[in-house]
Amino acid sequence: MKLILFDIDGTLISQTGASVFEMIANGESKFSFAVRKVFGLSVNIDFSTYNGYIDKSILWDCVKNSSITKEAFEKKLPVLAQAMAEYMDTIVTDTALYHAIPTARHFLDLVMNKSGIAYGILSGNVQSIAEWKLDKAGYNHIFQFGLYGEEADDRIELAKKVFVKADAFFHEQFSPKDVSVIGDTVHDIRCGKAIGAHTIAVMTGRHHDPVVLNAEHPDFLVDTLMDNSVLDYFGLKRV
Ligand SMILES: [Mg+2]
Repeated sequence: MKLILFDIDGTLISQTGASVFEMIANGESKFSFAVRKVFGLSVNIDFSTYNGYIDKSILWDCVKNSSITKEAFEKKLPVLAQAMAEYMDTIVTDTALYHAIPTARHFLDLVMNKSGIAYGILSGNVQSIAEWKLDKAGYNHIFQFGLYGEEADDRIELAKKVFVKADAFFHEQFSPKDVSVIGDTVHDIRCGKAIGAHTIAVMTGRHHDPVVLNAEHPDFLVDTLMDNSVLDYFGLKRV
């Protein structure tokens, strides 16, 4: 059995304007909104420099210089994630900004109809935000399995949790070579490599410099997930 782990932004859903909008709507980001709501702290951080960070580490950066301990912070993570989803619900009114990348959707449909392939999410987004975005982009209830941005302090630590979590969920023992990590950034490829997984870099994200992605030596570097090399690897019918 193979297991495919999908990144979300730029891999499954289009980022056209969306992630920028999330960051600056109403002069406040989902992170600063949540931290203000839960801890009463006002945060002044340039979130645009946090490319590749997972949500838990961004939230911790927002509060670590206050009197809040790491333990107290971790206890509040579910409430922070809830507040971030509330921000998305109330502030992000233009949900048309979130839509499925057609080739990713097509590929996923082929995967879902093929036996012997399990699939899930590997995302730096907290689960509430990941589900919010997937829902808006029409991937409702497709992903029952995933690893999310509140489960670890960084992406590599998060990826390392896949084996225990997937074995328990699918009742199947996955070895690194059974696992494919698909993403649009170097961070996805690095965390896939760190766990010995097969890696697929897909150039559907906003920043898809093939030279930069190629420097990480992904197993495949493709324009879209409907590339024949990807279809062949998973035993999917070429179209
Ligand atoms: Mg991405």
